[in-house]
Amino acid sequence: MRVNPLRTLILAAAGNDTIRRVIATAPVSRDVVRRFVAGETTEEAVAVTRRLVESGLTVTLDYLGEDTTDAALAEQTVQAYLELLDRLKAEGLSDRAEVSVKLSAVGQLLDEDLALTNASRICRAAEEAGTTVTLDMEDHTTTDSTLRILAELRTTWPWVGAVLQSYLHRTLDDAVRLSGDGSRVRLCKGAYKEPGTVAFDEMPEVDRSYVRCANALLAGTGYPMFATHDPRLVRIIGERADHHGRKPGEFEFQMLYGIRPDEQLRLAHQGHTVRVYVPYGGQWYGYLMRRMAERPANTVFFLRALMSKK
Ligand SMILES: Cc1cc2nc3c(=O)[nH]c(=O)nc-3n(C[C@H](O)[C@H](O)[C@H](O)COP(=O)(O)OP(=O)(O)OC[C@H]3O[C@@H](n4cnc5c(N)ncnc54)[C@H](O)[C@@H]3O)c2cc1C
Repeated sequence: MRVNPLRTLILAAAGNDTIRRVIATAPVSRDVVRRFVAGETTEEAVAVTRRLVESGLTVTLDYLGEDTTDAALAEQTVQAYLELLDRLKAEGLSDRAEVSVKLSAVGQLLDEDLALTNASRICRAAEEAGTTVTLDMEDHTTTDSTLRILAELRTTWPWVGAVLQSYLHRTLDDAVRLSGDGSRVRLCKGAYKEPGTVAFDEMPEVDRSYVRCANALLAGTGYPMFATHDPRLVRIIGERADHHGRKPGEFEFQMLYGIRPDEQLRLAHQGHTVRVYVPYGGQWYGYLMRRMAERPANTVFFLRALMSKK
């Protein structure tokens, strides 16, 4: 997007192997990572979940990993989710904590059927644990495949959630299509580097699209989940929700772990359902780079940490 050249630069750097090696192995990266990532193990993820739940928030957990082109790694990701869901149930957290799954981490790039089979195993485990699954949305080349898998999963588990990205031109149509009964939709701006042929170029356009899609979801009969840290959008969503007669609990706000934690609590104290997206696991690089690209202040925080320690 033209609005933030730094974003383009960081997302390009994220694809560079040398930069990836330096950052992923720098000891100082750990401190920065800790601000945005719950830890590497299931134990650490569950501990952070408990703390957030005890403060009045709800959670969606993401086992980090994406773009898997290896069936064994996809299997490892499935196993991580099965173990996590088991633990959430055992710890009595599954009524307040669900999971978010990137289909590319469970084999989407290898074979759509493999991704569907693996996602089905996670959905079955979520059902047994008494919780839900949301399918994260990745770059635009995967949107159709992800929505096909979503539709297939929803025939058995109607509660499987979708994510729509307001930066894509197509999203208003998708929002209208997915605004019916039982449909859980997370609306976000979108975090990938996309060409102008499919995505809006300027941030004000992305924001206007967000409001149009939000209206479509609020006017429907599904359960909208508004994922944004943007104070202006949070205010507008509140107003639009009132307009559509939606009470707190009939939609929710979502924010990322480590970003605007005070705002998360403020909204929760007002009676809103607020869900914190909690990533964990060793494959944090791509996730961290997207957070850097979104906000220059995050990058400054990272560079300052790099310069202040060996
Ligand atoms: C729960 C959740 C799930 C997501 N899932 C996906 C997904 O599946 N696919 C996908 O492509 N993207 C996903 N995203 C990322 C999303 O698309 C955006 O890239 C990201 O949320 C940044 O957009 P924003 O709406 O917060 O607004 P931005 O335009 O990044 O920020 C707007 C304003 O928010 C405030 N703000 C932002 N960050 C901070 C901060 N660190 N501290 C203080 N204020 C801040 C500032 O006022 C800023 O001007 C998800 C985001 C969330 C919150």
